[in-house]
Formats: sequence, structure tokens, C-alpha cells
Amino acid sequence: MVKVMEQALESLGIAESNPGGFAGTWTGSGKEQTVNSPIHGEALASVTNVTPQEFDAILGRCHEAWATWKLVPAPKRGEVVKAIGDELRRNKQALAELVTLEMGKSLREGLGEVQEMIDICDFAVGLSRQLYGLTMPSERKQHRLQEQWHPLGVVGVITAFNFPVAVWSWNTAIALVCGDTVLWKPSSKTPLTAIACTKIAERVLRDFGFDPAICSLAIGRGSDIGDLINTDPRVALVSYTGSVPGGRHVGGLVQARFGRHILELGGNGAVIVSDKADLDIALRCIYFGAIGTSGQRCTTTRRIIVHEAIAPAFRERLLDLYRKTSIGDPRDPKVLMGPLVDTGAVETMLAAIETVKREGGKILIGGEKLPHPGGCYITPCIAEVPGNLPIVKEETFAPVLYFMTYRTLEEAIALQNGVTQGLSSAIITNDQRESELFLSAAGSDCGIANVNTGTSGAEIGGAFGGEKETGGGRESGSDAWKAYMRRQTTAINFSGKVELAQGITLEM
Ligand code: NAD
Repeated sequence: MVKVMEQALESLGIAESNPGGFAGTWTGSGKEQTVNSPIHGEALASVTNVTPQEFDAILGRCHEAWATWKLVPAPKRGEVVKAIGDELRRNKQALAELVTLEMGKSLREGLGEVQEMIDICDFAVGLSRQLYGLTMPSERKQHRLQEQWHPLGVVGVITAFNFPVAVWSWNTAIALVCGDTVLWKPSSKTPLTAIACTKIAERVLRDFGFDPAICSLAIGRGSDIGDLINTDPRVALVSYTGSVPGGRHVGGLVQARFGRHILELGGNGAVIVSDKADLDIALRCIYFGAIGTSGQRCTTTRRIIVHEAIAPAFRERLLDLYRKTSIGDPRDPKVLMGPLVDTGAVETMLAAIETVKREGGKILIGGEKLPHPGGCYITPCIAEVPGNLPIVKEETFAPVLYFMTYRTLEEAIALQNGVTQGLSSAIITNDQRESELFLSAAGSDCGIANVNTGTSGAEIGGAFGGEKETGGGRESGSDAWKAYMRRQTTAINFSGKVELAQGITLEM
């Protein structure tokens, strides 16, 4: 067992062995899984998965809890979310440490991730008094039209390893104020953080006297527990975050039963660096965007498209930064880049680098495995490529940055849009005509398009998600809450007569 940070595990209620299911009581008698830290490969704790029978009972309880939760006034539901936010504030350091320990991102990024959870709780508290419906003028005399929003049901939240706690909170804070209950299936790579968050929600719900099954948990393999979520009509909405192939599978199954889904899938973020850019800003944005979370963000900067006039000098400055990157234990505040999530991710990155070379790209720096314990450390790589090679079009979930050049902005935008994913994009320029073109209908085709800031690090206030194979889903801020509720259109007649719409008459 890892000695350092053991306190974090303990204070969050993580034991040596933990049941992986919760719906008011903790259960889990399936396969036992040891969770190792990518920092050094040592065991942190173990988790027992839920069996299909246990899953059925958990979903049943979560669905039952909805029957009463949906009737609680929304501002009261907001008070519960406020208390969850407060509890997260109190446990911020410990939870961030656990994120770092289990997933390997730097502690400063772990703290940022927990802050994001707190922020979305604050947002949702305000939202709990703003679930507005419209009223519309009726074409009939003494009639009124309105639309109202009702709770939807159980939201199945399936999350990826790279934001092990934030994605749950984006969905849960909003779903709870909307009157939904939540059944979470986290990545099997990060079950401990999921248990810790569920215990926090459990405590708060019990304190308020509500059914703790409102925030349920089912840890298990995607291919069994995940598919049970996809196919069960008791799950009204499946919010799935993961790879494109995974999303294609989940989307197909949920659609087949006419369930709802939010798909938050892979990205292939690009930054255009204009010859009118502030290059200091460009460097900082690209550097953090490419190596942050060791290149394991959906919004990671994977491609840079640099104006040919500035490309040689810019390439040198970027290489210089890469040479100085401090790689190592992510708990060390001086370290910028920690390990990849597991040795499989390292192998995937090495294989991608070989493919780049085969397809005509040139490795400028990086891609060397480091001899640190655990085997998950690698130097970040930059590869110069003549355009969107087949491998460039794939999302290699690791710190590989493709460097390409352009002559006209139209050409750069075509390169930026020339991949199947459509999540995040950015332009660095001081020329307003360029930035406006980039933001126009002729510009970026992504769900996120930034100017003079990088592709990653989205704020919770905006709706988050992407187009094309990124899946089209939106979560978090703005009006993303509407996906978590049932819209109902109502016509109210106070005329004392019956009048049909469209002037239709009915003689009786
Ligand atoms: P993954 O696709 O391997 O797994 C994601 C989740 O899907 C896990 O919980 C997994 O257990 C589950 N799963 C697997 N099979 C399933 C099935 N049949 N039914 C239901 N669930 C199933 O992804 P990962 O490696 O954990 O995460 C990396 C991927 O996630 C990248 O592609 C990244 O871009 C993407 N991602 C997207 C966003 C976004 O908001 N767009 C955010 C974070 C990560």
C-alpha cells in the first residue's frame, strides 16, 4: 500500500477493500479489482464490482427514489446541491490528492478538477430557481400557451478515466436540481474517486433526510454493467463520456429503445497560430494544451497549424519548452507532466509514433519511455506532418502534438476542420478579421472555438460538447439542463367555449 497520501484515502472513507455498488446500502460481490496508482504501480485499494443481479436492485432503488425526489420543490433540491458543494469545499485537498493518486494528473490539475465540481454545484443552485418555461401568445381568444419542464427520471452517468470526478459532478449537480436521480458507472480505471464522491453525496442526502439512493453507484465492466444501463428503459437518459467507438455503441443501444443520450466523445483539438499572433500567448496556450493531463484531455491540443512565415522560429521556441518539461511524480509541485494512466496508454503512444514515421511524419522531439517505477512515464512528443495524415485524424490519447504549416487562413481552417471529431479549436491572432472569420459559419466547425486562449480548460458556465463524431451532446452550463428535463407544452382555455386551432370548425 502507498503510505504517502494514505490520509486522503482514509478521510474520504476508502478502505483496503470496498464494495463497488451503492443505492442506500453498499453492495458488491462480483469480481474483485485491485486499483494501482500510475505514479509507481503500487496498489491503493481494491474494489468488488457489482453483479448483474446487484445492478438490477441498485437501478430499482434509484428509480424508486426518483418517485419522491421529483416532487421536492426545485429550490429545495438546490439546497441539497449547495450542501454537496460545501462538502466538496471541505474535502477539496483530499479529493484532489485521490484524483492524482488514482489517475496520475498533477495535484494542481486535481485541485482544479475539484474546483470545477464546486463551481458546477454553485451554478446548479442558482439554476434551481431558473428552470424557466416560456409562455407564448395563443392564436385563439382567451387561451394561453405555455411550456413547462418536468423531471425526467434516472440519469445513467457513464464516465471516462481522465476527469474521474468532474464529469460526474457536471451531470449530477444539474440532474439533481432538475429532479432526476443519478446512477453512476465510472471508468474501471478510477473507481476509488467514484466511491469517495458517492460517500460525500450519501452523507449530505442522509443529513437532509432524503433517500441516499438519489445518488447511486454501480462499478463494473462497460461490456456488462454499461450495457445493462444502455438497454434498461428505467434509465431515461444516458450521459456517456468516452471514446468515439464506445459512444457509437452506447448511442445505438439507447436510441434503439428511444431513450435519450448525451454523447461526449473524443476530440482532436487544433490551434491555428497566425503570423499576426502574440507568440508568447501562443506558446503558453499550446504548451499547456498539449502536455496538460499528459495529453489525456478530450480538449487536448493535438494539432497546431502555424503560418509558414513564423513556423521555423516558433518551432524552435516550442522545442525549447518541451526540452525543459519536468516529468515525474505528479504530487511534486515542480513537476508539470505526470504519468499516463497505465502502461497500455504508453504502448498506444509508442505505436502511434511508429505509424507517424511510416506515414511520412518526422519526430522532432520526445516519445521516449522513461525508466520510472510503474512504467507509465514518457516524454511528450512533437511530430512535424505535411497535413492530416491518417494517424493525425485519430485521437491518440497521449501527449503527441502534430505540427503543420499553412499559407492562407482558409487553408488553415480547412485543415482544422478536416478531421472527423469536432470538439475544441482555437486561433491565436491579433487580427480581428481573422478571428471573426474563424468564429463565423465559414470558420471552425467545433463545439468550442476560442480566440487567444487554448483548446482546453473550459469553464462550467458554457455548454460543453462537440460536433461530428464528438457526438453532439452538451453538458454543464448555459441551457444544457434542458436535456435533463421533460418539456411539456400546455394550452389553457379560459374562454368558456371550445375553439379549435387553425380555424377548424366542428358542427355537432
Ligand atoms: P472509454 O471509451 O474506454 O471508456 C469510457 C467509459 O465507457 C468507461 O466508464 C467504460 O467502462 C465505459 N464503457 C465501456 N464499454 C461500455 C459499454 N458497452 N456500455 C457502456 N459503457 C461502456 O474511454 P476512456 O479511455 O475512459 O476515456 C478517454 C476517451 O474519453 C477519449 O476518447 C476522450 O476524448 C473521451 N472524453 C471525452 C470527453 C468529452 O467531454 N467530450 C471528456 C473526457 C473524455
